[in-house]
Amino acid sequence: MIVMKFGGSSVANAERMNHVASIITSYAEKKPLVVLSAMGDTTDHLLEAAELAQKTGVVDISGVEKLHRDTAKELKIDIPAVDELFEELISLLTGISMLKELTKRTRDYLVSFGERLSVRMMSAFLNSIGTKSKFYDAWDAGFISDSQFMSAELLDEVWTKIPNAFKDYTSGKQQEIPIVTGFIAKDKAGNITTLGRGGSDLTATMLGATLRVDEIQTWKDVNGILTTDPRIVEDAKTVPIVTYEEAAELAFFGSQVLHPRSMMPCRKTGTPVRVKNSYNIESPGSLIVERHGSLPPPVRAITAVKGVSVIDICSTRMLGASGFMAHIFNQFLKHDISVDVVATSEVSVSSTVKTDKDLSPLCADLSNVADVEVHHEKAIITIICDVHRSSEILSTCFTALNNVGINVQMISQGASKVNISMMCQEEESKRVITVLHKAFWG
Ligand code: ASP
Ligand code: MG
Repeated sequence: MIVMKFGGSSVANAERMNHVASIITSYAEKKPLVVLSAMGDTTDHLLEAAELAQKTGVVDISGVEKLHRDTAKELKIDIPAVDELFEELISLLTGISMLKELTKRTRDYLVSFGERLSVRMMSAFLNSIGTKSKFYDAWDAGFISDSQFMSAELLDEVWTKIPNAFKDYTSGKQQEIPIVTGFIAKDKAGNITTLGRGGSDLTATMLGATLRVDEIQTWKDVNGILTTDPRIVEDAKTVPIVTYEEAAELAFFGSQVLHPRSMMPCRKTGTPVRVKNSYNIESPGSLIVERHGSLPPPVRAITAVKGVSVIDICSTRMLGASGFMAHIFNQFLKHDISVDVVATSEVSVSSTVKTDKDLSPLCADLSNVADVEVHHEKAIITIICDVHRSSEILSTCFTALNNVGINVQMISQGASKVNISMMCQEEESKRVITVLHKAFWG
């Protein structure tokens, strides 16, 4: 048994849906369970429609409706279930436009239509071409979550609920391939929740882990996990194997490969995840497993996060005093600003933040005990690597950067065993990545 997950761009239109259907059909022997995202940018478009309704009172989902209706027409499928969903969606938007109120709960209810539509369409299409399938809304597939709308956590109960929901399929009684909505769930009170943007990856890994499948496949438009962003380095290479830990750090530090939280379920069961290319089915892609079998090269991949600010905090009043760090981080807590990379010395702390929030209230509070300077337009360059070999890695980095006259700041090796981060000017980040990529992969 395998899980196959396809993201929004893989099912963005009739042609892509057709292609995905052929991939699913070709894997029928492996007894797949399929997880789908909403078509293309539907999630964004639904959110835009909600804001429009709330702010201006206008109910307009013509874009979303057209995409789905045109696609259904092209695929020659007739699905009454889609009509019902559109009616429900329009009533919801009308409600929002009247109340001029858009809570997180309503937002989750609203975006859930994207995934609910896509699984209905795919299932109908598969059936029309003779591949028997059955669609599932996540709540009919055992996905129960807490009530943290927009970033809900799945409850432990899923470990029994999901296998229960698919009993007939796993036992062989049911032939129809399950097509499951990614991204969404329901809380105990029956409210629809979402697992955070990009959450379909988590749906897929949770489904695969709870069912103890042989492999979880997430299908992309590139050859698996790449050594860096191919838009920066054209000949970025496929990374054949990474560990769950490396994959999680990669996701956290800007690579768009997988949702950061999605590694959690498969780490528990050791279920391998394979990132595959829907345009290059034969390519093995990248495999994500618990640990490397043989010694891999020291560096796996390099990523960049832009739009970062660095806050330099230098103690004035609390020189050498205990509690300086506690005090500093309490201010971040108070202002609900999360810190990414930190470098410290006895009397100073540099920390990076990435937020749209105004930093001045935080800085005002910090200035009570420290000199504070904020530097904007920075980028974090993260090297996902084997930190045990840091001397070798850093020496290669610095030789290469020194050769072209680039100085980086604030190097942090982190508590993680798999990443070394450094800061540079945002405008320099492409160059840094290009230079480092060349140093490690030629
Ligand atoms: N459709 C949702 C999003 O765009 C979930 C996903 O694609 O994984 O974030
Ligand atoms: Mg999407």
